[in-house]
Amino acid sequence: MSSATIATHIISRIIDLPDTITFFTLKAIVSIKHQNQPYWYMSCSKCKRFTTAEYKEEFDCLQCKNNNCHGLPRYITNL
Ligand SMILES: [Zn+2]
Repeated sequence: MSSATIATHIISRIIDLPDTITFFTLKAIVSIKHQNQPYWYMSCSKCKRFTTAEYKEEFDCLQCKNNNCHGLPRYITNL
């Protein structure tokens, strides 16, 4: 990738990026404003939605209807 293709965007406007941009690298400095906010949640390995399954626990996901999903921690933050 040449430097000409790298663009800088404000993180809160990521949602406004064109649908043609499906992969990007995020370089950021994070400041914590609410220290009690959750930083992660356990997700379905296939649809990424919240689950009550334990880490690596295999389950059938009721959200995405896939079998053999497993609990996968995902980072979350409020912007
Ligand atoms: Zn799922």
